[in-house]
Amino acid sequence: TRPGAAAGTAAAYTTLGAHPALADYLRRIRPEEGMLLGGRMTAASDGGTFDVVDPASNAVFARCTDATTEDAARAVDAASEALPAWSATPPRQRAELLRTLFDLMVGQVEELAVLISAENGKSLDDARAEVLYAAEFFRWFSEEAVRTEGGFGTSPAGGTRTIVTHRPIGVVAMITPWNFPAAMGTRKIAPALAAGCTVVLRPASLTPLTAVALSHLILQAGVPAGVVNIVPSSRSAEVSTTWLEDPRVRAVSFTGSTQVGRVLMKQAAEKVLVSSMELGGNAPFVVAADADVDAAVTGAVQAKLRGGGEACTAANRFYVHQDVAQEFTEKFSAVVRNLRVGPALGDEANQIGPLVTTAARDKINALVDGAVAGGAVVYAESSWPQESPGAFIPVRVLTNVAPDAEIVRTEIFGPVAPIITWNDEDELLTWINDTDYGLSGYVFSRDLGWALRLAERMEVGMVGINRGLVSDPAAPFGGVKQSGIGREGAREGIREFQETQYYSVAWS
Ligand code: NAD
Repeated sequence: TRPGAAAGTAAAYTTLGAHPALADYLRRIRPEEGMLLGGRMTAASDGGTFDVVDPASNAVFARCTDATTEDAARAVDAASEALPAWSATPPRQRAELLRTLFDLMVGQVEELAVLISAENGKSLDDARAEVLYAAEFFRWFSEEAVRTEGGFGTSPAGGTRTIVTHRPIGVVAMITPWNFPAAMGTRKIAPALAAGCTVVLRPASLTPLTAVALSHLILQAGVPAGVVNIVPSSRSAEVSTTWLEDPRVRAVSFTGSTQVGRVLMKQAAEKVLVSSMELGGNAPFVVAADADVDAAVTGAVQAKLRGGGEACTAANRFYVHQDVAQEFTEKFSAVVRNLRVGPALGDEANQIGPLVTTAARDKINALVDGAVAGGAVVYAESSWPQESPGAFIPVRVLTNVAPDAEIVRTEIFGPVAPIITWNDEDELLTWINDTDYGLSGYVFSRDLGWALRLAERMEVGMVGINRGLVSDPAAPFGGVKQSGIGREGAREGIREFQETQYYSVAWS
């Protein structure tokens, strides 16, 4: 076994019990009654709860209400009752509620960040950044809610006029992942509310507490009863099946793995539901011979290590031109060797927390072992709490990686950076596009024209050019190929929750 899998005492690494701010917040949000249903917080109808585990210690630190399928059906009742009044609410009023939610969220950055770090494991700095990013969706869509333009046209023959409007699609079912427990919810809820839709949402069962906190903010903001219903549940497939089979649900918006997305799309096909899918990625990170290597290293740290590498936009494979490969590898490795890996709530100086589960840790260690067996070299490694029973792994830089190694073809979802050198642009492009995924990519070059021409031939939805971050509430987030369908954020984000209707008007 690897050192990380060695047994240790949970108590020695459990920092959460000793965290007064977390304990206080948990007392305030009462996750045992953590379901937002029809405008109030409530327990599951059978009183059940499920455990929430601290990934830094592998110990249970909270229990969350475990909604039944009956509760899930009641959530649709509430959302569908609330729909007529909410969709008829003036856009300005909807906008003001969204703006209030932005203010409330920004007012609780610290509390929410502690909660995210506790259940997801990411560093406090990353968690704070997530809260602010998440809140921005409320602000952006509060500004978009009032931009309700449609169209008015004259038919070519002149005899009719055409009026085009965009109206709310109806009740939307949402399912979110654990890697951004706040932002993946707000990125869906904010545009849906702006469009005039009502919502039933199930957060990932690994990270339900942030959603419970968000539910309290939604109540506090004064969002009318039933407009948003948030249903934590360990019964993932049962809850989504209940929703997708309910004729009152008109759309499904999912963020998570391609595997689960495919299952949901098959179910959605039965009722021809509008489907929005934000799925997995396998982002290439390209460094050209003329790149500013220091900027590329900064970008690599951001693209690879935000949230400990558990981001769908995370750089998965590094293609570095042979002329700068040595310099880039040395400089990136120097940063990696100095990183502090440890419990997010143990010491503020810890920059990288544990992975979300020990299963995720074991999967990534196996990928690294496979790469090493195939000739790859662990060129640099950070220190890490080896005796912890939590889900810790070191940050690693791999060199000598074969272009078709499994670690290059698989979404790693953790802090491992495989580096491959390149010198032929056509071969580079073949490598870049030789995947079913197409979410994001990164290009570093001083020649912006070259970078743009390469980006244009990359089969991805988003490209960071000389920067390691593409997420922005004002930009359309989403992928091509098996990374998904639809866009979140920007103008496009609201369109996911609208349907087009047109009136053909006799004009004589
Ligand atoms: P996952 O697909 O396992 O889980 C996502 C959600 O689906 C969770 O709420 C989970 O409980 C639920 N779920 C699991 N099985 C289900 C089933 N059979 N039926 C219905 N629901 C089910 O993914 P994950 O491990 O939580 O998240 C990681 C994945 O999400 C990665 O592949 C990552 O790239 C992707 N992701 C994509 C984006 C994006 O915007 N494109 C953002 C974040 C994460």
